[in-house]
Amino acid sequence: MAGLRGATIEEVVAQAWVVPTDEPEADGTLTWDSTTVVLVEVKAAGQTGLGWTYGHASAAHLVNDKLGDLVVGREAADVPAANLAMVRAVRNMGRRGIASTAISAVDIALWDLKARLLDVPLAVLLGKVRDSIPAYGSGGFTTWDDARLREEIGGWTEAGMRAVKIKIGEDAGANVARDLHRTALATRTAGPGIEVFVDANGGYSRGQAARMGAALDNLGVTWFEEPVTSDDLQGLHELRTRLQCDVSTGEYAWCPEDAQRLIEAGAVDCLQADVTRCEGVTGWLRVAALADAAALDVSTHCAPQLSAHVAVAVPNARHIEWFHDHVRLDPMLVEGTLDVVDGTVTPDLSRPGHGMRLRAKPAEPARRVA
Ligand SMILES: [Mg+2]
Repeated sequence: MAGLRGATIEEVVAQAWVVPTDEPEADGTLTWDSTTVVLVEVKAAGQTGLGWTYGHASAAHLVNDKLGDLVVGREAADVPAANLAMVRAVRNMGRRGIASTAISAVDIALWDLKARLLDVPLAVLLGKVRDSIPAYGSGGFTTWDDARLREEIGGWTEAGMRAVKIKIGEDAGANVARDLHRTALATRTAGPGIEVFVDANGGYSRGQAARMGAALDNLGVTWFEEPVTSDDLQGLHELRTRLQCDVSTGEYAWCPEDAQRLIEAGAVDCLQADVTRCEGVTGWLRVAALADAAALDVSTHCAPQLSAHVAVAVPNARHIEWFHDHVRLDPMLVEGTLDVVDGTVTPDLSRPGHGMRLRAKPAEPARRVA
């Protein structure tokens, strides 16, 4: 406890970087050509903790202008107290969205810092249920042609991953023929024994999702993510009762209370939660506990490098999402990232915290914007 006892937070600093995608990308309801990453460093007693989120540079401003002041001077040990102070402070500016992402990045940095002050890995501080967690390959953007899709799926299965996920719902459900063509291609490419997941990002109407779901069941798809908008709790619930495949969502749960609404509505078979959105490690662990109490598994959304450390610490984690964009860009910004081995990711117990550091000079084409 020597490093942690009496240590108080001395500094909180956020910065934002934009990383262009390797080619234009789209899912059912969004197109993009870059990702903005907001990174937060917190310092105490000679140690530095690192957290980050993916979103908008305004989250960096919120940390530097407001949230950091609430955290500086607090006991480094008392991460939940800092989390609560931040949550309370954003009430009138809107807790959900940008503020939740900013809180998440600070909270993750604080947990990393606490583990470093104790000189233990973050997974050990949280307490492991298992040593490693399965990862599933995720990307399969609607902008990719068949050859590109085959290439990506081949890479995932070569790495031993047992499930792959592609985007469907192209043009908000206006191109179901291509959705089904690409899903069938993914099934053939992945081969026997590999599960195929699809994510419509809320691109379909209720009726369309029900008809697509039946077709997806026939193709052997096992996971239908956000078949309708995740705001449509009743629609998700009805689909869940009609389809064989698992219905999932949760990536827009900005806090544990949002996750609880999905659980209470019976909207999901497996609850997704994003540690970089749902108020950090503190919020993510609460979401996992809520799901566990409802006998539901959780699956982490995106952010695989941060997710691996929380996913090994709860009994009901099913897998983490090895998301193309983040797998590509995280190593440009931070050093010490983990790889998939035999389809699983294993936190490195030889390094304190989550084991990652902000690079002194992030790699091209990353560019600092705040
Ligand atoms: Mg999704």
